[in-house]
Amino acid sequence: ALHNSLIELRGNIRVHCRIRPLLPFDDAAGHSQDRQRNFSEKVAYAADDETILVKCSRPGHASVNKTFQFDRVYNDLESQDAVFADVAPLLTSLLDGYNVCIMAYGQTGSGKTYTMLGPQLEGNLAFAIEEESELGIIPRATQEVFRLISEKPPGSYWVEVSVVEVYNNEIFDLLAKDSCGKVFGVKRDVVTTREGKSDVPSLTHETVENASEFLHLVNKGLQLRVTHPTLVHAHSSRSHLVVTLTITTVVFGDNFGTLWEDEQTSQRLNKEASFTFPQKTRDNKSTSSSRASSPVQLEATEKMKQVKTRLQLVDLAGSECVGMSGVTGAALRETSFINRSLSALADVLGAIAEQRAHVPYRNSKLTHLLQDSVGGDAKLLVMLCISPGQKYLTESMQSLGFGTRAR
Ligand code: ADP
Ligand code: MG
Repeated sequence: ALHNSLIELRGNIRVHCRIRPLLPFDDAAGHSQDRQRNFSEKVAYAADDETILVKCSRPGHASVNKTFQFDRVYNDLESQDAVFADVAPLLTSLLDGYNVCIMAYGQTGSGKTYTMLGPQLEGNLAFAIEEESELGIIPRATQEVFRLISEKPPGSYWVEVSVVEVYNNEIFDLLAKDSCGKVFGVKRDVVTTREGKSDVPSLTHETVENASEFLHLVNKGLQLRVTHPTLVHAHSSRSHLVVTLTITTVVFGDNFGTLWEDEQTSQRLNKEASFTFPQKTRDNKSTSSSRASSPVQLEATEKMKQVKTRLQLVDLAGSECVGMSGVTGAALRETSFINRSLSALADVLGAIAEQRAHVPYRNSKLTHLLQDSVGGDAKLLVMLCISPGQKYLTESMQSLGFGTRAR
């Protein structure tokens, strides 16, 4: 409860930072002849659980000695369990009616996919579902959502999933099937509805009833990236992956008033659904007196309404392309799209952090797609992923700058 109230005080965007361990491949063979630089030297450290220190000094080079503060910093020994412990409260918010977005930002190789999904299978874009302790945020979040739903009245919530890849500013539906039922990636567009929400017309939403059904579906979508004529050329680090869980609550008859725990959420949803949810008092009993005195509420009990909330889980394209020069051809095209979408994202998060009236969501498909789960009263968690090695100093500083701007 204390943790939750701290989240409220901090506002709706939080930035966590995870430093992955130094790995054997950090000292890449191609660079080993450069004796001036020890690429495997560690330069990024967790100073404490809210501070990251970047320290690098060597003769003849500009030295760096800088700290960055975040809502939480994970050192290289912290487990997937520890990371998820801080994510779980967001899922309670999700079932309380808030949209939630969790996104991993960082250069290629910094641990985004490991953090969001888990370790990837050898030579495969899918991930290992069997390694329970190694599972990342996406499978754990889904398990938690189904656990929370199991505590609610039966049939009062259901879950649909969509999986899309944003590549070169185009949206691909990874769960779309052809007429033979074979999964085939189809290009979709994102639009703004009359209510001002973002929507992807004809996007495939599959109903799932448990976490393992969900995981197999996501893995099927991920594998499609290997065979799709357009996506086959896009290494996964060149595209943004967005997995969306849409939670629908049906509110009617006797279930009425049992679903929304806090008054603020009920009031907001009342406005959206244009009818009134009975309020609950602190001791968890319905306030029957107020229900009886309100004709709107009496009328509402005879109706059935659906309320949808959205959880968007995002594995962003590698951020190392930002500011990269000297690339040509298809790589240049990809790079410029990644540049634009990540800088559009930075602009959106910056505008939200500064509470500006206009947030430029529509400058890229990525930000347009994520609009409803990053702005307004939605709750956003940015997971910055950092490689600790000196080799990645420039990219790490760029990521830390991105995270700092978003807060
Ligand atoms: P990205 O998705 O950012 O390109 P990956 O998630 O693929 O990076 O991580 C690169 C490599 O580092 C993978 O082999 C992954 O298993 C490993 N790795 C990343 N983070 C960790 C971690 N916290 N602990 C152990 N290994 C990790
Ligand atoms: Mg990855």
